[in-house]
Amino acid sequence: MDQEQREERNKETYGMLKPCLERAMALQTALILFEWDNETLAPEEAGKYTARVQGALSEAYQEIMTGEKIKRLLEQCRKETGLSEAERAIIREAQEEYDRLVRIPPKEYRAYQELVAESARVWAKAKEQQDFAAFAPVLKEIIFYQKRFAGYRAKDGQKLYDVMLDDYEKGFSMKKLDEFFGLLKEELVPFLKKVTQSRTEIRDDFLTGDYPEEKQRELAEFLAEYVGFDFKRGVLAQSAHPFTTNLHNHDVRLTTHYKKRVDSSLFSVIHEAGHGIYELGVADELTQTLAGQGASMGMHESQSRFFENMIGRNEAFWEPIYKKLQELFPKELGKVSREEFVRAVNKVQPGLIRTEADELTYSLHVLVRYELEKMLIEENLNVEKLPELWADKYEEYLGVRPQNPAEGVLQDIHWAQGSFGYFPSYALGSAFAAQMLQFMKKSMDFEELLRKGEIEVIRHVLKRHIHRFGKMRDSRQLLRDMTGEDFEPRYYVEYLKEKYSRLYQTE
Ligand code: ZN
Repeated sequence: MDQEQREERNKETYGMLKPCLERAMALQTALILFEWDNETLAPEEAGKYTARVQGALSEAYQEIMTGEKIKRLLEQCRKETGLSEAERAIIREAQEEYDRLVRIPPKEYRAYQELVAESARVWAKAKEQQDFAAFAPVLKEIIFYQKRFAGYRAKDGQKLYDVMLDDYEKGFSMKKLDEFFGLLKEELVPFLKKVTQSRTEIRDDFLTGDYPEEKQRELAEFLAEYVGFDFKRGVLAQSAHPFTTNLHNHDVRLTTHYKKRVDSSLFSVIHEAGHGIYELGVADELTQTLAGQGASMGMHESQSRFFENMIGRNEAFWEPIYKKLQELFPKELGKVSREEFVRAVNKVQPGLIRTEADELTYSLHVLVRYELEKMLIEENLNVEKLPELWADKYEEYLGVRPQNPAEGVLQDIHWAQGSFGYFPSYALGSAFAAQMLQFMKKSMDFEELLRKGEIEVIRHVLKRHIHRFGKMRDSRQLLRDMTGEDFEPRYYVEYLKEKYSRLYQTE
């Protein structure tokens, strides 16, 4: 067989795998759309019934992905040469998905899918009524399934929590994360004390007030577009908790909420737009494939937080557009200078709610969740003890104590969705972003670009090094390829200390 014939045959095998994967992706897309609908538009009564549809779709998905046909084709494809990097990534992702699913009995998988589809509503109600006991039994059940599934998938001697962490961030096991969070705890907890004891007063009363919802919506759409979100391939809707859903790189959906505090919605939008821009930047050869999304949860957060913090909370960013803000809200911001506004949106205020946290305290919120998840999964921590432990840790790291579970352990939806191992990526993302900023500043005048409103230059660097690769490379490799260094959390600590010592004149 000559080279040409061989390559022809390769295409044949991959060509047979493709329609199988396309059917699976169609089901996956429908599932994502239902999820989006549940969070934005679906009526309350629909929940139970939609959960059954979701269960059936998940089962069908699992059937395809674990079928004999896929198994055989994947085996053949593995031996193939001459495939592109994208094709190899798709095959690798399919293989991982196969391995993940084939170990879980279909009946259990379906029961679990129905459980999590329903649990989001149980959680929402428990949160509304500040009643942790109403959620605890469901949470116990979710943890039971999570540990069971991780047990099926654990490779020789692998810890259960490491199996879960691996789903969100390859190359970041407990060992690596203990080092990372250890550094944050050691450096940031005492630094935060210095900042809160500093005598620098920052006024931010004007951020709360009469900010009409329709004006906020106008601002949200303006900002999303200004930072580069493409509304021809994306939409912006409203939901209780802001999030981004991507069907593929031509259909990306952001949500936000509108609150009395204008910066809450404002930075949520820039944050979600960062997620969206990442997804829109994935190369077309990966569209509607298993490799056609962001590399990992952490890499995703690095992009959203890069846009939110490194770009959005930078004074230079507001130079060309602060006038627009004053025009939209003349009563509230007409007399507030740009400098005052930027200082206000960077004010450090240790609080109880992660999603409302400032940049400095943010990763300490994540630290609390990491430590508790580890205890839940690895040390069989009794779920009933969560609210108390949660409160103790908040008091220790942030100096604040929740008075009810709604502002404590019930605040995030993640556990209700079975997303154990997800939280660490929020902190990792911030650290990745700081490393990227450090790298960029070596070759470009970052602030000057913001001042001139040339965000596309920054966006193109991110697209070239990160976005276009989708899942072709994992986060550590992307970081290495971009910056020439392995993950280095010290940049993050240095970035925060430098920024906030300046703002609070702590040195
Ligand atoms: Zn995010």
